[in-house]
Amino acid sequence: MSATIVNFINGKLAPSRSKRTSPVFNPATGEQTGTLGLASAEDVNAAVSAARKAFPGWANTTPLRRARILNRFLRILEDRIDQLAEVITAEHGKVLSDARGEIQRGMEVVEFATGAPQLLKGEMTEDVGTRVDSHSVRQPLGVVTGITPFNFPAMVPMWMFPVALACGNTFVLKPSERDPSASLIMAEWLKEAGLPDGVFNVVQGDKEVVDALITNPDVVAVSFVGSTPIARYIYETATSHGKRCQALGGAKNHMIVMPDADMDQAVDALMGAAYGSAGERCMAISVAVPVGKTTAERLIEKLAPKVRALNIGPGTDPEAEMGPLVTKQHLEKVRSYIDAGVAEGAKLVVDGRDFRRQGYEKGYFVGGTLFDNVTKDMKIYREEIFGPVLAVSRAASYDDAAGLINSHELANGTAIFTRDGDAAREFAHQIQVGMVGINVPIPVPMAFHSFGGWKASLFGDHHMHGPEGVRFYTKLKTITTRWPTGIRAGAEFVMPTMS
Ligand code: NAD
Repeated sequence: MSATIVNFINGKLAPSRSKRTSPVFNPATGEQTGTLGLASAEDVNAAVSAARKAFPGWANTTPLRRARILNRFLRILEDRIDQLAEVITAEHGKVLSDARGEIQRGMEVVEFATGAPQLLKGEMTEDVGTRVDSHSVRQPLGVVTGITPFNFPAMVPMWMFPVALACGNTFVLKPSERDPSASLIMAEWLKEAGLPDGVFNVVQGDKEVVDALITNPDVVAVSFVGSTPIARYIYETATSHGKRCQALGGAKNHMIVMPDADMDQAVDALMGAAYGSAGERCMAISVAVPVGKTTAERLIEKLAPKVRALNIGPGTDPEAEMGPLVTKQHLEKVRSYIDAGVAEGAKLVVDGRDFRRQGYEKGYFVGGTLFDNVTKDMKIYREEIFGPVLAVSRAASYDDAAGLINSHELANGTAIFTRDGDAAREFAHQIQVGMVGINVPIPVPMAFHSFGGWKASLFGDHHMHGPEGVRFYTKLKTITTRWPTGIRAGAEFVMPTMS
């Protein structure tokens, strides 16, 4: 049966007032499981207006009270993690253990945000002048919006709203239209935790809804995560409408394998990082760069049988290591990239195009795919595929490998596998990428650090969550105070100095 998926406005589930809809599928079976009602301009205005009305009350709720509500939300998430994971798997396709993993990473941001009273502490200097003191505080911005991608329907919204709410802002979330249900569950659980109506709202939709949000005069800041062309568009449009914006884009993450690396460890790391979640992760490794011919040959020899042996199935199968892709269109796109790699002359070592899983013939499955001899000019090297396709690009030296990474326009994450401290130090220091792993294939920062790439992987000045998240969702105010007991200097017309 196909359920109708709605908005969440001012503390209530609210059907969309437009007639536009979008189907939601179970990627493992290819069945339509839901019909998403896309929000109308009226729905967007209602959500923003609810958030605007809720703002003064929420901003004036003490940080400790805000933190306690987030703490209750955290406990609900802990108790019901399996329920949320099942919804994610049903709409996204990822295996259940991976869905639980993304919720766990999101919960860590909630946990970080429960430190609101500590995070919002200002600075104070006594006696900046005679009997004059200065202190600075960080205050909330107002109504902020988050626009999120399909690949982490719980975690990426949780990169944003816990910190935004902890800082005293009110929030309108626009989740991906491919897997919208997790956002509604989180909205209901926030309400159950005690969040006042209007503080957190969800509007469902596509470009039309996004455009209405990022140009709405009452929205003061926009957080976006998605592909690079849309991130660039969001950043340009939101900032030209006077809004603060952080827009995180796509990725092409390289992993260098040095000749001295522990090859078994590097191969295991590559398997998880390239094929986990069917490669639909912004921190997935999509290019392996072995240094030297012998390293490349050892790597391919160990990697290929493991790629062929991947256990691929529906996300509900506890044995499955990797599920289907998110939609039929995405499946076709990933297959067409594999075709392009063959046509461009890369060596197809493992071909996943014909993978079929018995009983799930209509699911959007593609097998693990491995290319060797991929060069810089090939489409499969330049573009983000966002599927279980690993390209091996051989390098003659460390300098060639680092140069390859630095010349790519996408710079989200990268890793090096080595036992050489000099090479690791040089890599961490010089590489032009936002998140770097040394013998760590997916170096996703913890909640109390900040997440973000460089170059065309992030538009804006602030990374997400951690200290950067607090800075993004607050503005600084500095207050200078004089108590002139007994001091009378008379009117001063020159620039005030403390001399
Ligand atoms: P997407 O860019 O297609 O969509 C992201 C969001 O933008 C969705 O909510 C979508 O409805 C909206 N959108 C789509 N087209 C739009 C348009 N023309 N105008 C305005 N809004 C539009 O991305 P996706 O396919 O959902 O997600 C995968 C992408 O997200 C990959 O490129 C991946 O690398 C990236 N991603 C990046 C990070 C990161 O931290 N840098 C994290 C997760 C995903």
